[in-house]
Amino acid sequence: MVAKLFAELKAILSLRSLQKRIFLVVLLAGIVPSVIMRYGILENYEERSVQQRISTVQNQLMIVGNHLISNNYFNLKPQGYTSSVSRDVINAELEMISNLYEGRVMIIDSGLKVLKDTYGISEGKTIISEEVIKCFRGQVTNNYDREHGYIEMTTFITDASSNTGEIIAVMLTSISNESIAANLEVLGQKALILECLIIVVVVAMAIVLSVVMTRPFNRVTEAINEVKAGYRDESISVQGYAETNHLVSAFNQLLKRMRVLDNSRQEFVENVSHELKTPMAAIKVLADSLLAQGDAPAELYREFLEDIASEIDRENQIITDLLALVKMDKKAQELNIVSLNVNDLVELILKRLRPLARKKDVEVVFESMRTVTAEVDEVKMSLIMSNLVENAIKYNKEHGWVKVELDADHQYFTFRVSDSGLGIPEDSLAHIYERFYRVDKSHSREIGGTGLGLAITKNSVLMHRGSITVASVEGEGTTFTVKIPLTYMASNGAQTM
Ligand code: ADP
Repeated sequence: MVAKLFAELKAILSLRSLQKRIFLVVLLAGIVPSVIMRYGILENYEERSVQQRISTVQNQLMIVGNHLISNNYFNLKPQGYTSSVSRDVINAELEMISNLYEGRVMIIDSGLKVLKDTYGISEGKTIISEEVIKCFRGQVTNNYDREHGYIEMTTFITDASSNTGEIIAVMLTSISNESIAANLEVLGQKALILECLIIVVVVAMAIVLSVVMTRPFNRVTEAINEVKAGYRDESISVQGYAETNHLVSAFNQLLKRMRVLDNSRQEFVENVSHELKTPMAAIKVLADSLLAQGDAPAELYREFLEDIASEIDRENQIITDLLALVKMDKKAQELNIVSLNVNDLVELILKRLRPLARKKDVEVVFESMRTVTAEVDEVKMSLIMSNLVENAIKYNKEHGWVKVELDADHQYFTFRVSDSGLGIPEDSLAHIYERFYRVDKSHSREIGGTGLGLAITKNSVLMHRGSITVASVEGEGTTFTVKIPLTYMASNGAQTM
């Protein structure tokens, strides 16, 4: 249970499923921009609001500064005076600014002494602040302290009437950012609600899209499962993407190939049963007819028993050939490769087959262009050569001939068997390598063929990565040419017929 959960978690994290990937991509594509946008908008709003507030307050302060000069607040003109009325007006103006912006305004003279403090607590005191000193040097500063929630700024006052433009005093102002923060909070809440809505919509979209987009793949899987379960065996058809269409067509081709294989297997089993039953039927007929004649003469018994023995031999031959083929199918890779003198092998095979040739009065000649040494499997090579030479003798005419040639180039050796025999009709040429195929069934049976010899031959040739070709003219003769590489190239399994 825990292992299963762990495996599931691992599968989710490894993102092997296309559906999960689509879900995640849509989710990220929807949510990340909305989060970035929310932060961007809020940051921008705050920055702009602070800047706006600073410039508004500074304008106001400049106006007040001008009023201060024009009302001789700093007693610059010895003959002038500052009436208590105008001083009150200016103080009221300063109070108004500090109330309006919830802040504090201090006027500091060049001796760093506080002339006016709207809080009324620092008047007469000396203030040593970096910003104020900087401002006296003509450098206006402003500073936004988000943590403590205020904006601090300095503004200088110059005497416009004098030519020197000397800075007479500095106004150090700090205002609250409370209203900005309040607006920001409202905006933030609205943006959060909007973002939550976007997330809900995006999650829904991600679920729908991931399900819809992977649906054609699921349909393909369902269709394949139906074929697998045996509900249907025709080719599947699923409308979807180009990719799923490729999958479906590849699967249909595989299905077609499997059906062909299945048919050929079925056909093979039918052929095997038929071939094995034929000698049995003959034996049964022979035995029954003997039994039917209660007192048959001994010669008849002998004759019938000889026939029965030859049918048993035939059955044996079929089973031996079949076993040879099955072994090849099973052990396609297992060749016992040795370096072999091919000329010697041909001589040996011809020696074995000469009695058969003599019986049929067929002349066998061997022409060797050179001595050939090749890396081959001796048993399989003997099968190839003896099958071809035996066929050339078997399917020959009286007083016919068989020519065996051996030649080689730097890559391959060529083994060619020509005969003056019956030849093979053109429409049969494509089938002679099939199992149990015989051009003339009755004639071949008479001769003792099983129809498996060429199938075994072709299989053995392919196992050596070689090729076999045939040229034949009916009534004139046949030539089989086998080309085998001199050096064995091991790779994937041999093809079977
Ligand atoms: P079989 O055991 O019947 O000889 P093979 O697979 O060796 O089976 O051959 C298949 C068929 O090809 C044979 O039945 C025969 O009709 C034809 N055939 C093979 N070799 C020759 C040949 N050299 N000349 C004429 N026909 C041939």
